[in-house]
Amino acid sequence: MSAPGVQTAVIGAGLAGLSAAVYLRRAGLTVRVYDPEPPGGKARTLELVPGWRIEWGPHSFTSRAYALFDLAEVLGIGDRAVRLTGAGARYLVRGGRLRGAPFGGAIRMGEGFGLLRGLFRRVEDVAGESVRAWVARRFGEAFAAGPLDAMMTGIWASDPATIEMEAAFPTVSALVRSEGTVFRALSELRRLTARLQAAGAARPAGTWGFPNGMGEVAEAARAYLGDDVLRPEAVTNLAFSSEGPGYDLTTERGVSSFQAVVVATEAPAAARLLAGLAPDAAAALGEVRYAPLAVAHWLARDAAFPRGFGYLSPANEEREVLGAIFVSDLYPDRAPPGYRAFATMIGGGRHPEDLDLHVDEVKRRLADEHLMLTGRPVAITGLHVVRHRHAVAPPALGHADRLARVHAGLPTGVFVAGSWCGAGAMDDAVRAGRAAALGIATGVHANSDPSLSLKSHVA
Ligand SMILES: Cc1cc2nc3c(=O)[nH]c(=O)nc-3n(C[C@H](O)[C@H](O)[C@H](O)COP(=O)(O)OP(=O)(O)OC[C@H]3O[C@@H](n4cnc5c(N)ncnc54)[C@H](O)[C@@H]3O)c2cc1C
Repeated sequence: MSAPGVQTAVIGAGLAGLSAAVYLRRAGLTVRVYDPEPPGGKARTLELVPGWRIEWGPHSFTSRAYALFDLAEVLGIGDRAVRLTGAGARYLVRGGRLRGAPFGGAIRMGEGFGLLRGLFRRVEDVAGESVRAWVARRFGEAFAAGPLDAMMTGIWASDPATIEMEAAFPTVSALVRSEGTVFRALSELRRLTARLQAAGAARPAGTWGFPNGMGEVAEAARAYLGDDVLRPEAVTNLAFSSEGPGYDLTTERGVSSFQAVVVATEAPAAARLLAGLAPDAAAALGEVRYAPLAVAHWLARDAAFPRGFGYLSPANEEREVLGAIFVSDLYPDRAPPGYRAFATMIGGGRHPEDLDLHVDEVKRRLADEHLMLTGRPVAITGLHVVRHRHAVAPPALGHADRLARVHAGLPTGVFVAGSWCGAGAMDDAVRAGRAAALGIATGVHANSDPSLSLKSHVA
């Protein structure tokens, strides 16, 4: 049975799927979006008890999330985005204590010298290098094992030795190659960003968020698309259409046919859906690795952490948690009056087995960590643990080749999107969804990487 008048199906209503659907709609095409879960995917917000609102996944994004800002503008919520003024102070755990970053003790003397030397040093560029190797060759082994490791934990919950520099930081990598040194590359980046800001095309630098949570984007997308577009159904099969060109999509409610399909799920689910239709693409998708994360959301009246964004621990501190976001310092009305709200990250690539920790053990770790870092006990009055088996997909070594194999293996009219197509952040998800929509709207075969679609693959 074909879906009358509906040209494109989008599988998955995370930011990638919603973005694909919104830009398809904006291009005048009809679309239907399938997802058994509420829209937003990982970017959802829940009110646990009155006054305590938590994020299912991400809390914030940077001023360079250009695609996300663009989507917010299209959805009419661009002016809802706020720069998080409480995000100033950040901390690293060094020697079992919280130290202010960058120069409040978070970077040790020897690391500081390494950092300074590395800024001005010309180092031969190596394609396909890991973030850890790239940083260690420029700034020294100690900096790579300390501050860098903590930063990578905050972004990808993963070992920087497994992440590809060029895929993780494409702009910085390209600028270092053209400018010669990290210092000149950063100066050029600042100059380019200032020009964008002067032209009104970029927001002021910093950390940004939505006052009522990332769920604001999903709600605005739902309103833009209309409830009839969103179908609360899981797609169980995808096949070439039995009735002619196009694709048959199966859910528990039956089979519908579409001219084009955007598979916007996490990579493992995409691999399962594409196994019959595009086995080579599915095999490449199966290689995408995720870090698992348990996020403990908790409340306390008497927490003694300093104010700021939060803290991170490098692996060599051997802590039982990876770090924490001081949520109510960023968003003051996300905790009931008199309380502070925190989101503590546990597990990651460092300790994947911690994903399933019993909630009592989580509570013990939170209390021990607070005591250890502040010297004071804390009374945890609310605790809710969100467990993500596929939390973040860091762009692992071989990322570009893997992505190219996915794209090359897709039949005409089938597109993929997801944050795993880029560096694993919300902006990557939105960009991939928009690129898939652009591919469909312009009749360009494949895919979420616009440079690939422009190079060849014209239908
Ligand atoms: C704890 C945590 C913190 C994070 N912090 C940040 C941050 O600070 N900044 C940042 O930029 N990013 C952050 N991220 C990453 C960010 O959340 C993701 O990159 C982004 O939300 C992924 O969007 P997506 O659309 O690619 O995938 P998802 O959000 O995973 O959406 C995929 C959707 O596909 C659906 N689906 C799966 N199978 C099927 C099927 N068979 N049929 C129909 N639907 C299906 C799922 O239900 C899901 O809704 C964080 C992630 C986590 C988990």
